[in-house]
Amino acid sequence: MRVVTIKCLRDNYAYLVIDDTLAAVVDPGEAGPVREALDRENLRLAAIWLTHHHADHVGGAAELAGDGIEVVAHASDVSRIEGVTRPVEEGDVVRLGRLEARIIHNPGHTLGAISYVVDGCVFTGDTMFGAGCGRIFEGTPAMMHASLQKLAALPPPTRVYFGHEYTANNLRYAAEAEPGNAAIAARAKAMQVPSTPSTIADELATNPFVRAKDVDELAARRTAKDMFR
Ligand code: ZN
Ligand code: FE
Repeated sequence: MRVVTIKCLRDNYAYLVIDDTLAAVVDPGEAGPVREALDRENLRLAAIWLTHHHADHVGGAAELAGDGIEVVAHASDVSRIEGVTRPVEEGDVVRLGRLEARIIHNPGHTLGAISYVVDGCVFTGDTMFGAGCGRIFEGTPAMMHASLQKLAALPPPTRVYFGHEYTANNLRYAAEAEPGNAAIAARAKAMQVPSTPSTIADELATNPFVRAKDVDELAARRTAKDMFR
């Protein structure tokens, strides 16, 4: 498996997941940059894997969709995303060539948010970011806490491909939330753009939302981050 990172819109990432000459695109916020990447890499688009219904993640999907292209989203998002051909739930498996991606349902940012776990990688959309998490728009802090802990339980070397380049700002907040955490300072110092992918190990060491000891601490940190600079 190969992954190609595609910058979309202002600070979004779409990704090509590649098996041989077949590709799935994760979260095409717009079609143009995805088309260019497919052409450049000589790939046939076989699937569109959506993490949630927000426009900055699905905006290019309708334009890229077509005959034989599987469009995947959580079952609860079918009414909110045009053209879904494959509604999925927790534990379902979607295929791309020889690859199998397992679905994790992680409500919190939105109720139908999902991640895709495939070949040592996880595509997390707006649930887990580099040193951060998405805003809690539709779910509850308890949902977001459970969702982050589910992701954090993946093997530590798992590469984390997230939906936005927010890592620098997230690390500034992380340093404020945990002033004594040397791993946060080290990560901020070493950080380069693009910061994707990180690893579950990185997030266990530096992500103040993953590290929150309970739902209350997660909720307090999320509120503080919402108001942070
Ligand atoms: Zn979103
Ligand atoms: Fe987003």
